[in-house]
Amino acid sequence: MSAKKFTILIIPEGSHRVRRFNLRRGLLGTVLCFGLLFMVGVSLLAFDYFRVNFDRKELVRLQTQASAQQKELRRLAVRLADLRQEMVVLAQNDAKVRVMAKLAKPKADAMNGVGGPPEEDVSAGFSELQQQIDQMVRAIDLRRESQEEIQGFLNDQRSLLAAKPQGMPVKGWVTSAFGVRRDPFNGARKMHEGVDIASRTGTPVFATADGIVTQAETVSGYGKLVVVDHGYGFKTYYGHNSKLFVKVGQRVKRGEKVAAVGNTGRSTGPHVHYEVRRNGVPLNPRKYL
Ligand SMILES: [Zn+2]
Repeated sequence: MSAKKFTILIIPEGSHRVRRFNLRRGLLGTVLCFGLLFMVGVSLLAFDYFRVNFDRKELVRLQTQASAQQKELRRLAVRLADLRQEMVVLAQNDAKVRVMAKLAKPKADAMNGVGGPPEEDVSAGFSELQQQIDQMVRAIDLRRESQEEIQGFLNDQRSLLAAKPQGMPVKGWVTSAFGVRRDPFNGARKMHEGVDIASRTGTPVFATADGIVTQAETVSGYGKLVVVDHGYGFKTYYGHNSKLFVKVGQRVKRGEKVAAVGNTGRSTGPHVHYEVRRNGVPLNPRKYL
């Protein structure tokens, strides 16, 4: 295209008149350029229009979502406030039990002094919510520790109760009390370290607390003797039996038959010589009968 001028012929159909336009090359270039710019402009406008339209829809969708999340957040905050209230009640109960059990106060309690109505501004942000959840987790841990301690204490109490001698080891009547007395054999004043309970030969003798048999043999003076270790320093002795029904190392329950009444050893008639010792020291069994 090295020509300087162009001719455009327009020939309408069914007519002999031909229209003719002469164009210079420079003008043609200018026209083509404007045409192109116009097309680009229209395209950009159209693109922008669609984009704005799309953005608006997206905005509406996001707004709806945000409002739903806000609602959910508020619901969670209220639920959390309820949980905090429950934890406060638990902490108070826990404290009461600890007072009754004479246990030390629990460590700094996250729930102490917390309470009251849930805060007005429930739309508190996520970070605050997170903080409250962390606090709750700490409070739950503390509660769990405290409960375990109380449980352990109760278990100990239960075993202490089971370990403490209680009641008569045999059906019968006390014929000789604990304390200094005249020896029935030689009349000398001597400490009597237990009580004597008279009963018919063969009457069952029962352990007065849970424990483990540590002796079941004939011992000089005691005759056929059973000793039961109950823990917590408690031991009980059952002497002068005719028969022994337990072996060393055997676990026995309170009320379990361990022997039969007899007259073995240093005895003047069928009876049980019953001793209660704590940490080796003979106690007056009357307190435990
Ligand atoms: Zn005695």
